[in-house]
Amino acid sequence: MKKKYNFKGGIQCISIKKDPREYFLNYLPDPEKFFIYIKYSHFKKNRLRVKVGQEVLCGQPLTFGDDLIVPVHSPTSGWIKNIYFNPKSSDKNQEKIKIVILSNHLNKWIRLKTIKNYKTYTPQSLIKIIYQSGIVGLGGAQFPSSKKLTLSINKVHTLIVNGIESEPCMTADYCLMQNYINEILIGCKIVAWISKVKDILIVIQEDKTELILKIQKIIENKQLFKLCIIRKKYPGGSSKILIKSLTGKEIPYGKHSIDMGYLVFNVATIYAIKRSIINGEPLIKRIVTLYNKDKNILSKNFWVKIGTPIHFFLNYLKIDSNLNTLIYSGGVFMRYLIVNLNYSIQKNMNCIYVKKNKKNKKKIEYPCINCGYCVHACPVNLLPQEMFLYCKNSDNQKLKQLNILDCIECTVCEKVCPSNIPLVKYFRIGKKIQKNIDIENDRKKLFSSLFRKREKRLLIEKKIFYSKDQISNIKKLDIFSRTQEKEENNSINQKIIEKSLRKEMLKEAIKRAKLKR
Ligand code: SF4
Ligand code: SF4
Repeated sequence: MKKKYNFKGGIQCISIKKDPREYFLNYLPDPEKFFIYIKYSHFKKNRLRVKVGQEVLCGQPLTFGDDLIVPVHSPTSGWIKNIYFNPKSSDKNQEKIKIVILSNHLNKWIRLKTIKNYKTYTPQSLIKIIYQSGIVGLGGAQFPSSKKLTLSINKVHTLIVNGIESEPCMTADYCLMQNYINEILIGCKIVAWISKVKDILIVIQEDKTELILKIQKIIENKQLFKLCIIRKKYPGGSSKILIKSLTGKEIPYGKHSIDMGYLVFNVATIYAIKRSIINGEPLIKRIVTLYNKDKNILSKNFWVKIGTPIHFFLNYLKIDSNLNTLIYSGGVFMRYLIVNLNYSIQKNMNCIYVKKNKKNKKKIEYPCINCGYCVHACPVNLLPQEMFLYCKNSDNQKLKQLNILDCIECTVCEKVCPSNIPLVKYFRIGKKIQKNIDIENDRKKLFSSLFRKREKRLLIEKKIFYSKDQISNIKKLDIFSRTQEKEENNSINQKIIEKSLRKEMLKEAIKRAKLKR
């Protein structure tokens, strides 16, 4: 019996039904129009590589990217219909640049550069390819994978391949592993080659028995790989909790898993890295689970191209997207409402969650009864009950002492609270204030250090000035003394001359007097 890793707290979730449809992959056809959203804050207009009316091919880069944002690629062949610059959008689902691409449904690709033996390339050149392929963390973080890999070189010893989907309705990663496990293992080797890790841990949950057997069989004789099975609990997929369950080590706020020697990648990201290096494909599609709560249908998984409008996805599945339907990105526990159905599938969207809007069923919030359920359930050892109290009283000092910034907003405490207190809502506000205080403190520190530096600089300048002045004074004195000396010498000479002149005059006068006699 293989060891099962566990973590404190969390919520026990029901296992998904063993149905072959769970990992049957469907393909969504191309919509008429694709909407590519790009954040403007990190972006400048001149970073665009296309203009309105231009023809584009599948996989063609639309932007150059920069330090914080990777290039974005066209998911289809067709032409650019419009580019909207929308910096003052009030809709939080709207990113700042919207590129509308009209598809010609031919899916003509750009020429792809494939690599047969990645070991003949340096880690830096492989990282460059990963950057140019637009790969970001597909587990939800959207952090550029190239940056993560650059930071990890010679700093990490273990690669953790995160195959955990603790949200009960999500099966996208499970589906990917069932269908593409061999490609994922190649992706693992590429990452291991780049970051020089010595161990690769593939982590999956205990209920995926079929997949466990499959992976065990494949990695049987492979030294580098190890399969780790974790208990089916929410929120096991968070990298902090994952490292805590596997190693017992805690990552403090402000630190990254790389600082502790662990490089964590989601399985979908590893798969995308393999496709980019070996097949030359940029990231233009991902697997998305569609979960319709009220129809109680099984989750379905689709290959969906990035930029596919949400309304097209729902219409294709004949899901009514009227006012009584709520559409979320995320799962049962962590999700955000999609207000505008013109918004499209993004790289970090792994699940679309649909449910009816039950207006009458509003939860009433009762006072805290100090039952302590939330404290037992918190997977990161926080004290939600006390945090709630200090959030209400705006006691920021106490909130800092309680490490509110370590809260991963998993909503577990909220789900177990018998008083229906929307704890996470309070924590989000508390965290925002804490972050602002931290930013303010950092700014104050920066300003005071700058001020101290300025003072120091002025002091040195003053010293130099005075020392210079002294030097010049000495010089002046020196010159003065020399001129004085000269003058004195001159006057002495003058006196001597005068004396001699007077002597001579006296001699001549004596001569003249002698002659007269
Ligand atoms: S939301 Fe925060 S406080 Fe609540 S259980 Fe999760 S980590 Fe703990
Ligand atoms: S679970 Fe709710 S009622 Fe119980 S202590 Fe926590 S906040 Fe209070």
